[in-house]
Amino acid sequence: MAALITFDFDDTLTQTIATWEEDGTLEDTEFGGPNLVLIQCLKACAANGNEVRVVTSRHKRWEKDTLEKLNAFGVLHLLAGVHHTGGEWKADWMSQNGLDPIKHFDDDKEELERFSCETVKVPMHESWRGMD
Ligand SMILES: [Mg+2]
Repeated sequence: MAALITFDFDDTLTQTIATWEEDGTLEDTEFGGPNLVLIQCLKACAANGNEVRVVTSRHKRWEKDTLEKLNAFGVLHLLAGVHHTGGEWKADWMSQNGLDPIKHFDDDKEELERFSCETVKVPMHESWRGMD
């Protein structure tokens, strides 16, 4: 059986751009398109024969948007599944649903801490000035 590798969606396969007020407070955030480095990484994982799934804590009501973006990024057809946990910790949701990844990619340290497999912390877009 192919080894499972999982990717978070927001700020992992996508980027968010931050803008700042002069006094250093956050002014706004906007969708910044795909994170091309991680899209390449996902494609390589699939090409190497791994089973690849997206696991997001988004609510199911965002499913259409998630699927449309993954399709626009050119990776939807490579995925064995796209799962919306609706705010539940991804590691917990996966173990409850019989998914046992060898590696998980995520921007959220609290999510990553809950995995027992290898994890990769994806950095936020440079506009966040190193904030995690
Ligand atoms: Mg995320």
